[in-house]
Amino acid sequence: MLALKALGVYLLLFGVQSASSLTHKTLELMSKYRLIDGHNDLPLHIRMLKNNRLSKFNLYNNPETATDITRLKAAHVGGQMFAAYVLCTAQDKDAVRLALEQIDVIRRMCTEYPELELVTTSTEMNATKKIACLISIEGGHAIDSSLAALRMFYQLGVRSLSLTHTCNTPWAESSSQHYSYYKRDDNSLTDFGKAVVHEMNRLGMLIDLSHTSWATAKAVLQLSKAPVIFSHSSAYTICNNPRNVPDDLLFMLKANGGLIMVNFYSDFIACGAHANVSHVADHFDHLKHVIGAEHIGIGGDYDGANSFPQFLEDVSKYPALIGELWSRKWSEEELAGVLRLNFLRVFKKVEKIRDELHNTIPSEVLIPVAEAQNDCRLVLRHPKIPEMVKSTGMRAYICLRSDALFWTVLFVHFMLLCKPIYYN
Ligand SMILES: [Zn+2]
Repeated sequence: MLALKALGVYLLLFGVQSASSLTHKTLELMSKYRLIDGHNDLPLHIRMLKNNRLSKFNLYNNPETATDITRLKAAHVGGQMFAAYVLCTAQDKDAVRLALEQIDVIRRMCTEYPELELVTTSTEMNATKKIACLISIEGGHAIDSSLAALRMFYQLGVRSLSLTHTCNTPWAESSSQHYSYYKRDDNSLTDFGKAVVHEMNRLGMLIDLSHTSWATAKAVLQLSKAPVIFSHSSAYTICNNPRNVPDDLLFMLKANGGLIMVNFYSDFIACGAHANVSHVADHFDHLKHVIGAEHIGIGGDYDGANSFPQFLEDVSKYPALIGELWSRKWSEEELAGVLRLNFLRVFKKVEKIRDELHNTIPSEVLIPVAEAQNDCRLVLRHPKIPEMVKSTGMRAYICLRSDALFWTVLFVHFMLLCKPIYYN
């Protein structure tokens, strides 16, 4: 009802013919092909407003957020990638803990509410009649330059990672220069960054290039065996913002078989605070013209941005956009793809590549110490390396090499008198 009203008002205001039949047709299409959206920051608001106390958060009707279950259902949303977002200022500090806490709150949300279902595969996502939740991590700094951490996030259900947020990582470059982290000439995608890409291919995780620099996006597009996504980015030709995707990268994305999911944030749509549904549709028209409708999706960025176009203010309003695209002669097949089928195709292909790589062992690549050096990262060395003895703050029991001493130490060890070695 909510969505119907929003769409009706929009169509009447803009003088579209046969508004009621178009409204009906739009909602019918959207109930048949339930939207899968690429990016939503509701979990960030659960942290900001309630410090992740989910029991205190009104998930059904919440005037403080753009997303709640009532409005998701009103717009026939069938799947949502929820972002486990980690502040850039947590890089090299407690980014891993913060990411775990966001994953925890998403998992709780999607398992404790009967309208939601936590999914980890394209098959589950397609099959559920509920609102499917897929977990994505926003910001590669959350893995703390560790492929083991990446794999453990996968085990927790994470199926997508954006390689950067608004800060560089030691191994990939952001589209933003706001933070001073790891500003180097040669880190658009370092050898470790390439290992991250290979490992995500092997695991079957969606590589998300929204927020990366164009140089990083280009390097990943050349390297990835699986299709990639821009989970919430729009067309640079329509709005010249570095968060948007230029045409040359769009051509590479088409060749890669990937997907650009259009971000609704007014600054990325109209390069300013004032935008409407028509401006958003202009991005869709341009993208269709350049790469075809089969490479387009929707990544609204609700609750992740502070200004949205008129008639697209919250998650109940998606029908206004679909109605506008109908009126611009987009076909049912094209809209079905944009709403849902394009994402499922890409996700399935990512899983297929994973299956093809099933004989590949987990990557044991480590980031070189010099590339990720910071005060909070311990440098672990074998205790026999002499430098350890001189290191301040390190407590180690050194076992010398003489045979007699070796057996003595072994004996003592078994007597549990020789404590483990701790570095602090
Ligand atoms: Zn974002």
